[in-house]
Amino acid sequence: MPLNEDRSIADDTRIRASLPTIRYLTDRGAKTILVSHLGRPGGEQVEKLRMDPVAARLGELLGRVVDKLDDCIGPAVRDAVGRMRDGDILLLENVRFYPGEQKNDRQFARELASLADLYVNDAFGTAHRAHASTRGVTEFIPGVAGLLLEKELDVLGRLLSGSGRPFVALIGGAKIADKINILESFLGRVDTLLIGGGMANTFLKAKGLAVGKSLVENDKVGRARELLDKAAESNVRLLLPTDLVVAPAFSPDAEQKIVSVEAIPEDSMALDIGPETIGEFTKVIGEARTLFWNGPVGVFEMEPFARGTEALAAAIAKSEAVSVVGGGDSVAALKKLGVTEQITHVSTGGGASMEFLEGKGLPGVEALQDK
Ligand code: ADP
Ligand code: MG
Repeated sequence: MPLNEDRSIADDTRIRASLPTIRYLTDRGAKTILVSHLGRPGGEQVEKLRMDPVAARLGELLGRVVDKLDDCIGPAVRDAVGRMRDGDILLLENVRFYPGEQKNDRQFARELASLADLYVNDAFGTAHRAHASTRGVTEFIPGVAGLLLEKELDVLGRLLSGSGRPFVALIGGAKIADKINILESFLGRVDTLLIGGGMANTFLKAKGLAVGKSLVENDKVGRARELLDKAAESNVRLLLPTDLVVAPAFSPDAEQKIVSVEAIPEDSMALDIGPETIGEFTKVIGEARTLFWNGPVGVFEMEPFARGTEALAAAIAKSEAVSVVGGGDSVAALKKLGVTEQITHVSTGGGASMEFLEGKGLPGVEALQDK
């Protein structure tokens, strides 16, 4: 979860997303022990990554004091849990202060689990990882899905099981390597696959085009060609950019030019999709009944190369289709435009949503009793 320099919370989306389950439990008198992680402390105590700001914000949102402990296992924690009364909430310290968390250490998981009778998993964002707090604890106490996890699985599951057609997926981002499996999985499911961003360059190269100094994954050109062939065989429309915004350097101050994909200058790199591509992709998005978007189609962090991502995000927001957006940067782009509310479902898990949509089982989900 993003923190500001002064450790105040920059974005409380994930905290807000957890409220329905917390309220559900406490309203029914459950003693609710909250376990979570913050940042990447790497198995050590990191002062800056203590959970205190989370307790404070959670308290504000719930309108009550949320007690927070400075550890997540051990005698002091057991004592505090023993003093809880029905309906109480207790937030434990960052669970990643212990190396046993990410290693899914059995003893660590046993200690965590010993605090409770029932495990409720609402951490969709880490459901694709087998950690002690997402998987290990289910060996000792029964686990069930929280309301957020359930909603994520429900919405994403509908994308997998055949949704309203046309089903259009827009995939962008820097690297194909990160997303090759999801591209492959989507080729069997969607009507149209729109590809933009850095990864489009590798596809353009696979089609025999010269891409100048653009970001290209040379070891993935062969895979890209296979995917192009597979799309053609399976009657999936796979659209690549037809024009691009290029510049001689990876900088917002570099002189930019709009060129056809057939005419990328040797000394330039593609940093956004061009206006013709925006028009074509917008049209396809406008006709969709189901939409999935992951990955910006340009270097949207730099103002001059944000047009493509902004235009397509706006088109997705405007669409009446069932729309699902996943991925940290894509969600950031939605927020920047202020259109998050117009999306049917904004996933709280970039990596987890991708792995789920690849058709992989999620370790944090498989161990639950109500999966
Ligand atoms: P998400 O977080 O939504 O899953 P990714 O992390 O896969 O998205 O990709 C986002 C990154 O891709 C951004 O940092 C963006 O600058 C970068 N990117 C997009 N288009 C290009 C491009 N043409 N060249 C280089 N990087 C790009
Ligand atoms: Mg990202």
